[in-house]
Amino acid sequence: MLTEKQRARYERQIILDEIGEEGQQRLASGKVLVIGAGGLGSVSALYMAAGGVGTIGIVDDQVVELSNLQRQILHNTDRIGTLKTTSAKLTLSALNPDISIDTYNVRLDEENAAQIISGYDIVVSALDNQETRYVVNSACVSLRKPLVEGAVRGFSGLLMTILPGKGPCYCCIFPKSSCDPYLTGLIGPIPVFTTTPGIIGILQAQEVFKLLLKTGTPLVKEMLIYDGLTSSFYHQEVKRMPGCSCCGSLN
Ligand SMILES: [Zn+2]
Repeated sequence: MLTEKQRARYERQIILDEIGEEGQQRLASGKVLVIGAGGLGSVSALYMAAGGVGTIGIVDDQVVELSNLQRQILHNTDRIGTLKTTSAKLTLSALNPDISIDTYNVRLDEENAAQIISGYDIVVSALDNQETRYVVNSACVSLRKPLVEGAVRGFSGLLMTILPGKGPCYCCIFPKSSCDPYLTGLIGPIPVFTTTPGIIGILQAQEVFKLLLKTGTPLVKEMLIYDGLTSSFYHQEVKRMPGCSCCGSLN
């Protein structure tokens, strides 16, 4: 049952036919892991907190730097030098004290990924490097966890939802051999315009809400591509790759 305060807080969405009290309770029971408290993670986590996702986990091992603040709106100038997980928890708890925020001050890797991810219903990949994307994809495929993948560069972004066994995984679309060295972070910082991660991050939150509410259609067999210079969105069909090294054996 929702409390009176919860009814008041979420009033504007509870009155939607697609949500109602039952949907709001489903959000309250939802556990979502956000991997990366940077530009994408800032916005997806803020909206999930505002909308009432009951448990949000945040994974990040970095501290807030001045150069983050142009796009990572979970953090602020006073928090420079503070762990991003600590800063994220402060901001999200201030926005919505009704929800639980779990923090993991680690870099996700092959050793810890399955253990951390297994406690959550849905994973949001909010990363800035390909290496960790493959680790997250592989763990989500093994655990059959829905994964909402987002990426940004400059004025462009892309978004897709991976439901292991039901649509392509990250490796099906971007096999490791095709890895763009620019995206691996090996060649200096990736250029990112201030609003690009906000736009993709908010769409990642939208995918999470649809999955938790079991409403609408998740972005599973198509990838959404955003061009900020023309304010255009394109959909590109994507398919599972037979024999994919990550998900090829899943039915
Ligand atoms: Zn695959």
